[in-house]
Amino acid sequence: MKIQHIFFDLDNTLWDHRGNAFSTLKEIFKRQEVRDKYNLDFDDFHREYFTINERLWEQIRDGEIDKEYLRKHRFYDSFLFFGIDDFDLAQAFESNFLDEILNYNDLVPGAFEVLEYLHDKGYQLHILSNGFEEVTHKKCELSGIQNYFQTITSADEINIRKPQPEIYDYALKKAKASPAESIMIGDDWIADVEGGKSFGLQVIYFDVFDDKFEADEVKVIKKLIELKELL
Ligand SMILES: [Mg+2]
Repeated sequence: MKIQHIFFDLDNTLWDHRGNAFSTLKEIFKRQEVRDKYNLDFDDFHREYFTINERLWEQIRDGEIDKEYLRKHRFYDSFLFFGIDDFDLAQAFESNFLDEILNYNDLVPGAFEVLEYLHDKGYQLHILSNGFEEVTHKKCELSGIQNYFQTITSADEINIRKPQPEIYDYALKKAKASPAESIMIGDDWIADVEGGKSFGLQVIYFDVFDDKFEADEVKVIKKLIELKELL
């Protein structure tokens, strides 16, 4: 059956979450005078934060923790790694982060070109994100890609995340798409690739961080622009 519906993950697949978070945190870090107060270098902090945050998002995906736990811990645990036990500082970061990250809206290189190409070819495009509902739509709107999409689904809407079949079912129903005519493209091996595949979708793994996962019937791209050869 011919592919008619393309489901994209959002963070780090189209919207450059890593880059935008870096810029946002750098600014909050400066405003909170962390360097002077605690003798901590931003790049060291960010490296640790990135690892901790990724791990917590994996735990959310796997249903081990909820959103509140992540929001309480990602900054607190990052500072604690450097011996800084300061709950108020961590909360100041958390409460500013979600609002301020929307001031940065860089896309992953090639995103506009690829969306334009797929749109011109007549595919129906959709977003299926595991991110917070409060920011998913805003990220699409503020980065200027919103109008490419027929539907935008945040797993938060029903509090069930990829790779669970229920969220794929929900998003496909919303898109009026069948698994056989749909493809999922994303950077998370478990949520996007394994989740999509076991729901019966074709999948393309965007190996944006060079994790080198592979499996039968899974196409891999390193750059978004490679999608023009596959679709
Ligand atoms: Mg992602």
